[in-house]
Amino acid sequence: MQKTQGYAAHNHTSPLAPFNFERRDPLPNDVQIEILFCGVCHSDIHQVRNEWGNSTFPMVPGHEIVGKVTQIGSEVTQFKVGDSVGVGCMVDSCGVCPECHDHLEQYCNNAEFTYNFPDKHSGGTNYGGYSKQIVVNQNFVLQVSDKLDLAATAPLLCAGITTYSPLRHWNIGKGDKVGVVGLGGLGHMGIKFAHAFGAHVVLFTTSPSKIDDAKRLGADEVVISKNPEEMAQHLASFDFILNTVAAPHNLDAFTALLKRDGTLCLVGVPDQPHPSPSVGNLIFKRRSIAGSLIGGIKETQEMLDFCAEHNITSDVEIIPIQTINEAYERVLKSDVKYRFVIDLASL
Ligand code: NAP
Ligand code: ZN
Repeated sequence: MQKTQGYAAHNHTSPLAPFNFERRDPLPNDVQIEILFCGVCHSDIHQVRNEWGNSTFPMVPGHEIVGKVTQIGSEVTQFKVGDSVGVGCMVDSCGVCPECHDHLEQYCNNAEFTYNFPDKHSGGTNYGGYSKQIVVNQNFVLQVSDKLDLAATAPLLCAGITTYSPLRHWNIGKGDKVGVVGLGGLGHMGIKFAHAFGAHVVLFTTSPSKIDDAKRLGADEVVISKNPEEMAQHLASFDFILNTVAAPHNLDAFTALLKRDGTLCLVGVPDQPHPSPSVGNLIFKRRSIAGSLIGGIKETQEMLDFCAEHNITSDVEIIPIQTINEAYERVLKSDVKYRFVIDLASL
C-alpha cells in the first residue's frame, strides 16, 4: 500500500477537509496516476451531502480526473509512464455481461464506481479524484491527447461523456432542433456537442445573465424557461431535449415542446422526484421521457478523440483544493462558469 493525501467529507454535514489514506500498489493490470486536475461535478455535492441516500464516509469525491501515468503493472500494454490520461465515473465492471459486451459498462449490474463505492480489492471503499494519486485497471483509463489542455479536459470525463452519449444515441445531427435545459457543467458541454454535431441548439435557462455566454458556447437561441410566453413560441417543435437540471421541476413544460416522437432525456438526478408528468402530453404525440447514465469506456475515448480533433474542452475556473467548500456553495447558486476544476498541485 502507498500513503497519499486527499480531501474528504467525514459525514453528510461536515465540510471537506484534508485526509490521509492509502492506495493499493499497482496490480499487473493497473495504472498508477499522479492526479493533476479533478473537476467538481454536482454529483459530488449530492453524494457528500447524502442527497441520494447511499453515502458512506469518509468520502473522497471526484470523478473527472486527469493526470500523468507514474507506474504501470507488469501486464499493462496500453499505457506507459508519462502518458496523459483520464479516469471518469467508473473503475471496473464485470466484463462478461451483455452490457459489458456491448461496451456499455455503465449499465453493468456490477459496475464499480470511482468513489462512494465498495473497493473489491481492499474490502474498503473507493476514494476519488480530490487526491494526489489513484490506481486504476488499465481498461478503465482513457488516453488524453497532448493537443488538449489538461485542466479543461478534466470535466469531459463526466460532464462531457454524459452529454455526448445521449446526443449520439439519439443520432442528433444536422436538421435536428435540440434543447439543452440548464447551463451548468453538463449543460455547457451539451451545447458544445449539439452545436458540433450540426443541430440547431436552444438553451433553456433560469438565469437571464447567462444568455450571452450560451450564444458564445454555441446556442442558436436562448429561452428563459420561467417565461411562459417565450416557452409557448417553441410548442411541439423539438426533436430532442437534454435536461441537466439538478432539482425537481415540472417536466410538462418541456414535453409540450417536443414534436411527434420527440424525446426528453433526463440526465440530472435531483434528490427528490419530479412532479409526475402529464400522460396526455406524451400519448397525443407519442413523445418519450428517457434517461441516460454517463457513457461506456469505448465511447468516452471516442468523445475525447472527437474533442481533440474539434478543439473542444470545458470552460473552467481553476481552484486550489482549499477553497472546495466555497466552490460547492457557488455551484448550488448556479454561479460557476461553467465547471470548477481543482488544481491538485495546491494539495
Ligand atoms: P450544475 O453545474 O449545478 O448545473 C445545473 C444547472 O441546472 C444550473 O446551472 C442551472 O442552470 C440549472 N438549475 C439548477 N437549479 C435549478 C432549479 N431549481 N430549476 C431549474 N434549473 C435549475 O450541475 P451539473 O454538474 O451540470 O449536474 C447536473 C445534474 O446532472 C446533477 O443532478 C448531477 O448529479 C447529474 N449528473 C448526472 C449524470 C448522469 O450520468 N446522468 C452525470 C453527471 C451528473 P441555469 O442557471 O441555466 O438555469
Ligand atoms: Zn459527474
